[in-house]
Amino acid sequence: MPDADTQTRTKPAVLILLGPPGAGKGTQARMLQERFGLVQLSTGDLLRAAVKAETEAGKRAKAAMDSGGLVSDEIVLAILKDRMQEPDVARGVILDGFPRTTGQAEALDALLSEEGKTVAAAISIEVDDDAMVRRVSGRYTCANCGEGYHDEFKQPAKAGVCDKCGGTEFTRRADDNAETVKARLSAYHAQTAPLIAYYEARGVLERVDGMGSIDAIATELGDIVKQATA
Ligand code: ADP
Ligand code: ADP
Ligand code: ZN
Repeated sequence: MPDADTQTRTKPAVLILLGPPGAGKGTQARMLQERFGLVQLSTGDLLRAAVKAETEAGKRAKAAMDSGGLVSDEIVLAILKDRMQEPDVARGVILDGFPRTTGQAEALDALLSEEGKTVAAAISIEVDDDAMVRRVSGRYTCANCGEGYHDEFKQPAKAGVCDKCGGTEFTRRADDNAETVKARLSAYHAQTAPLIAYYEARGVLERVDGMGSIDAIATELGDIVKQATA
């Protein structure tokens, strides 16, 4: 049975999670997906899948991803548009890690306006740079279901066993290393942080303190989502 939040949500909304690497976008997007039936759409996950499958786009994206730079708008937009064609997207989406440049934000607005839609809320999860480095360095993921964990901050209830699926294999991202993190952080400040002003000017920006606990942030985000989709 769908939970109460899924039943009371009225509009299939487009929501954006903004924030530097390690802010908790993926963690929170998964929780919102479960709670509200929104579809998590992570361009990072889509790009990693394309690299793994050695598609043409994946081959072109790999070098930028390995070095911690941004993949070109052209490649990212092509991958995102493809994904947006799939029927589940009609339930409403939570964009995780997209847009990351002003060009991507403008392209998203154009894409949505073709369908008479707009961004319901762009939520900026704000964490300081030191915390971000710690978050990224301790991050690992269940190889089976994708649930995210952390060496210090979010360990499975039973060591070595995924809480969600019972899987026992975990992976760490190749780009979650001290060297690449610096490049990712500067890409965030130079290219993505300006989107905060972009969405503020459109009256849809919400700021959330990303230094709180995972559950406290989830509660705050839940309230924002309910309000934005009422
Ligand atoms: P992002 O998608 O923004 O890069 P993640 O959701 O993958 O970030 O989170 C980065 C790491 O920090 C993960 O290991 C996650 O378990 C952990 N984490 C997420 N949110 C918090 C939080 N509020 N406090 C402490 N650790 C967190
Ligand atoms: P993070 O946890 O750092 O927020 P992501 O999984 O969102 O990481 O992204 C990993 C990498 O994939 C980025 O460093 C970048 O190279 C590429 N990437 C993901 N999303 C985008 C995007 N919207 N535009 C450009 N590059 C992207
Ligand atoms: Zn799992």
